[in-house]
Amino acid sequence: MPASRHPETRAIHVEIPDLDGARPLNVPLYQTANFAYDHTEDLAEAINRPESFAYLRNSNPTVRALENAVTSLEGGAAALATASGMGAIHTVLHTVLSSGDHVIAQKHLYGGTFALLKDLAARFGIETTYIDAQDPAEVAAALRPTTKVLYLETLSNPTAQVTDLPAFFAAGQEAGLVSIVDNTFASPVGCRPIEMGADVVVHSSTKFLSGHCDVLGGIAVFADAGLHRSVWSRSLETGPIADPFAAWLTLRGLGTLGLRMRRHHENADALARFLSQHPGVEKVHWPGLEDHPGHAIARRLLPNGYGGVFAIDVAGGRKETLEFTRRLQLADRAVSLGGYKTLVQQPSATSHRSMDAEGLRAIGITEGTVRIAVGLEHIDDLCADFAQALD
Ligand SMILES: *Cc1c(COP(=O)(O)O)cnc(C)c1O
Repeated sequence: MPASRHPETRAIHVEIPDLDGARPLNVPLYQTANFAYDHTEDLAEAINRPESFAYLRNSNPTVRALENAVTSLEGGAAALATASGMGAIHTVLHTVLSSGDHVIAQKHLYGGTFALLKDLAARFGIETTYIDAQDPAEVAAALRPTTKVLYLETLSNPTAQVTDLPAFFAAGQEAGLVSIVDNTFASPVGCRPIEMGADVVVHSSTKFLSGHCDVLGGIAVFADAGLHRSVWSRSLETGPIADPFAAWLTLRGLGTLGLRMRRHHENADALARFLSQHPGVEKVHWPGLEDHPGHAIARRLLPNGYGGVFAIDVAGGRKETLEFTRRLQLADRAVSLGGYKTLVQQPSATSHRSMDAEGLRAIGITEGTVRIAVGLEHIDDLCADFAQALD
């Protein structure tokens, strides 16, 4: 599919393996662990080529179709689909980094990635310097002779901070770093970091790419086929590849990505504006609001919308906020995001419950912060649900 077509169209018209001239309209599910060959020499060759099919840990046609589809969406050279987002992040970092190397990462990071970097430091001496990611000069300031990776996220969790990606990728390139960006919150409809200079884009396809809260998956897309080949080789050793059925479910969701992302954005924008007028809400962290610190950058980098995840600070402490989330009827209390259902999560009562109010403030949230992953429900029903729970 030519890159001149819009991402909404590319997400629908994915490459489908040909069956002797008959083209299935949807990608078939090849639920098979291995492929047989008439000649052993051919099998031997297939095992060593990422393009061929031999054993499921190497590749599979359904998984490949997903990889090609997301490669096209992100404007990359090749992709590796994995069993989870963390599987993709781990496999890429594990390939690019060796013990003693150094990483520069933004400090507002997905919790699992933060835990992984902490573990890499403790066990392999791979230290990370955390930066605010507000000024590209921070990269040069944090640089060491051993620095290998610059790690960023398009939109951060839960306060939707936005990094000026092109400026940071340029700083990373000047220093000879591999720039990796987690594009989960924006999706390729919202942002295509490879077009801005990223080397690797990672996704938790559990979220917007699949979109239906029914599958776990990840994918890494590479600007350079050589790096893809290295990561693929490493994946043969570590075995993170996506299961065909998970890949098939993700492809099924992908067709409606454009439509869903537009509705997620519209709903989030309307709900954010509604809540910013409500006396029970102290603050709304949504880049669509003019007073959000990332507003101008978001408008420039994400012209098609800012995903559908934002945070609010409810007036009151942990207890009042817990009571507010308990009273929500449409929005479910659950982890994850990017699906068709609206979900809420209160960090001070779940993931960050060991931190006091001061510690929470230091990372930009309060005891009343609630992350809202806005789904595809009718906006009037969502506003009414949040209003009745706040009143
Ligand atoms: C969920 C998530 C991940 C981890 O993905 P899994 O599929 O849960 O392993 C990584 N990064 C971001 C931004 C996420 O939201």
